[in-house]
Amino acid sequence: MTTADIIARSDRYLIPVYARAPLAIVRGEGTRVWDADGRSYLDFFSSTVVTALGHCHPAVVAAITAQAHRILHVSNLHYSEPQARLAELLVTHSFADRVFVCNSGAEANEAAIKLARRYGQRDGGGRFEIITALGSFHGRTLATITATGQEKVRVGFEPLPQGFRYVPFDDVAAVEAALSRQTVAIMVEPLQGEGGIRVPQPDYLRRLRELCDHHDLLLVLDEVQTGMGRTGPLFAYERARVKPDIVTLAKGLGGGVPIGAMLATERVAKGFDIGAHASTFGGNALTNAAAIAVIETLLGEGVLANCERMGERLRAGLERLRDKHAIIRDVRGQGLLLGAELAKPAAPVVERCRDAGLIINATVQTVLRLTPPLTVTADEIDEGLAILDRVLSP
Ligand code: PLP
Repeated sequence: MTTADIIARSDRYLIPVYARAPLAIVRGEGTRVWDADGRSYLDFFSSTVVTALGHCHPAVVAAITAQAHRILHVSNLHYSEPQARLAELLVTHSFADRVFVCNSGAEANEAAIKLARRYGQRDGGGRFEIITALGSFHGRTLATITATGQEKVRVGFEPLPQGFRYVPFDDVAAVEAALSRQTVAIMVEPLQGEGGIRVPQPDYLRRLRELCDHHDLLLVLDEVQTGMGRTGPLFAYERARVKPDIVTLAKGLGGGVPIGAMLATERVAKGFDIGAHASTFGGNALTNAAAIAVIETLLGEGVLANCERMGERLRAGLERLRDKHAIIRDVRGQGLLLGAELAKPAAPVVERCRDAGLIINATVQTVLRLTPPLTVTADEIDEGLAILDRVLSP
């Protein structure tokens, strides 16, 4: 099919919830993708911050292929080797003692919200309220749109679940002021992604941890976007040197296949007993085999160090562009989760970049988001920066 055919069929048959660019991608390799008409692009968006190791990384493809020849799916009423190995890997390399494997970021957060409520209910405690941050994004299920600190995702879906309060991001005093006898958890992203690549003060998470310890609250970190090496370390919380109670993952975890996970300490995980939560596809053999390959590659082949180095290179390049083009107001982010705030709407710049062969995206109207794969090379970074420079030049 040509691009025109794919667009025509999609527009005819799909429920139109996405503002899609007129681009139909059919193949990918590393940082590069090809559209249905054979044109190639540099993918500095990693297909919505998903393909952490680039498109079709050989280790992920090999793991999926091998698993497909053995078994695709094992019921959660039986034991599954890939799920057991994935959980062991996640526990070994994180703060956590226990893992619940699911299929997406929203599901991981849904599980986290339910687990936090169980914590609040123990011993007849009756606490259920979760404080989240304005500008946050946590998913599209009913509970996660309610947790999300953006009004627009909730419009028309009322009545919403109760028990969420919003405070400004990066404001510990506001969290303290919002505490009530019903508060059980504080749930934030270590760095807001969809909210415009907003990096908090370096001591934000540590101060939230102190508040949680003082009031017996859970610190729930949504690392759906920041996790799996995206900001440099395997998890963003490592940079802040805090130990969370719950962390949620998805996006990069599967290297391109749909998977999510909720990680928790033993003390908190106890809230889920048999029958408390479940998912038919959670822990699926195929996706879990892919995630094992992602983690082993991330840890074993210098990918995290590459992310730090290439993140510095991209940031330095964006700062040079900021000095050259007045339209760039600010450059921010960590690792390869970077944003350039513009003085004007970002969408036309995203479009012109695409026409010139570079895929990036825009968040909150004015912020360009650049999230190349963690395996991106120096030449690819320079090529992407050169395209952006040309696009911004009058
Ligand atoms: N949490 C964060 C921080 C995200 O960025 C996203 C997606 O962008 C989600 C949750 C929702 O993940 P999913 O779309 O896999 O449900």
